[in-house]
Amino acid sequence: EAERLNQATLGSKKFYEDASKSLSGGVASQYQIHSPWPIYIEKGDGPRIWDVDGNEYYDFHNGFGSMVQGHAHPAIGKALEARYPMGTHFAAPTEDAIVVGDELAKRFGLPKWRYTNSGSEATMDAIRIARAYTGRDTVMKIFGSYHGHHDTVMVDIGWIDEQEIGPRDNYASIAYGAGVPQATVDMTVAVPFNDAETMEKRIQALEAEGRLPAVVIMEAAMMNLGVVLPEPGYLEAVREITKKYGIVLIFDEVKTGICIAPGGATEKFGVKPDMVTLAKALGGGLPAGAIGMTEELSKIVEDGTVYQVGTYNGNPFTLAAARASLQEVMTDDAYAHLAYLNDRILAGCDDVIKRYDLTAYTVGIGSKGCVVFSENKVVDYESYMANARTGGPLADLAWLFNMNRGIFMTPGREEEWTLSVTHDDAAIDAYVSAFDELAAALRA
Ligand code: PMP
Repeated sequence: EAERLNQATLGSKKFYEDASKSLSGGVASQYQIHSPWPIYIEKGDGPRIWDVDGNEYYDFHNGFGSMVQGHAHPAIGKALEARYPMGTHFAAPTEDAIVVGDELAKRFGLPKWRYTNSGSEATMDAIRIARAYTGRDTVMKIFGSYHGHHDTVMVDIGWIDEQEIGPRDNYASIAYGAGVPQATVDMTVAVPFNDAETMEKRIQALEAEGRLPAVVIMEAAMMNLGVVLPEPGYLEAVREITKKYGIVLIFDEVKTGICIAPGGATEKFGVKPDMVTLAKALGGGLPAGAIGMTEELSKIVEDGTVYQVGTYNGNPFTLAAARASLQEVMTDDAYAHLAYLNDRILAGCDDVIKRYDLTAYTVGIGSKGCVVFSENKVVDYESYMANARTGGPLADLAWLFNMNRGIFMTPGREEEWTLSVTHDDAAIDAYVSAFDELAAALRA
């Protein structure tokens, strides 16, 4: 399968050789690196994309979940065409900023909003606001969760061997890559997902050390260990504990936000955080981010106690796309269509797993889902790592099978598919059929 893909993507190989002269590693971001070379994309239209060799794929990667609207959506194109002749940047607020803010407030039930240009900026600013509000420094996160590439959250993510992690109620703080100051790493503490009891114990231990956390930042449903859903009662317990200790609760909805329900995980699970961070699909393919917050938190932003700033925040071009996306594309009908498609793809994959008796299961929500190659149910980082040796290579093989059958997917076991509103039955059938071929090959 690897050789077949290599032969089909020799144009990408040439691009890679050229790109490597001016771009580090031939790519714009480390997450675009792929061995032996990345696939360079030429264009997209609806659910389809084409690489520079002219290979056509159904896109289930969708820009790490940013393109839930599908590629080149006409409603977003029209909004951008109308905006461009009127100018694209003033660093002053425009009408679209108000309309989008109103819409987000309605969807997520948080009254006050600010904009950023990425998910990393959203979580960075949200954490700073929480630190300013509480007057505390310590940040609590979930082990294995990804919240962007600023120093505070580049801790306890990625492939870390179990022995290094330490005991469940006292996980070590481990930097993700070099260049993160140790003092910052030490200020971030991680706890296991789906375990409110251990969270409270760790909070109490930190309190005894005079290091009560300012903030718990988490995804209500984890989207960077495949998809891991919250167990019943878990989010409610986290809400109660954070209230009890005066800790600001952030739901990082960069991945879930626009993709799993109109009001994201906050609406879906019915637990209200103090802050929400959005990015990815918010901009309909343009760089965007947003922070939602309570009136109380907003006060210290409004009066300049804490600085939430950025030259491109609320960029008119981005917000024209966001407005068109929220008002015309991501409608109730669109969410119903995504639910229909996701039910179909999950049922199709379940059927393959059953027919071939694979050691795997499916999990999904909204527009997102994945096949988990595992004997045990993944509920947190430790159970995720328990099957890394088998699950990792199987996910890599599944990626090759998909690519060779016209399915563009996120590489690696930690990601999931994102369907777009332009996907249809044929796209779902293509995915299930590729998975069927993989299962047949594994059983042969
Ligand atoms: N939070 C979550 C949950 C994410 O998945 C990501 C990106 N994968 C980020 C934050 C960071 O977003 P960005 O890459 O736009 O900085």
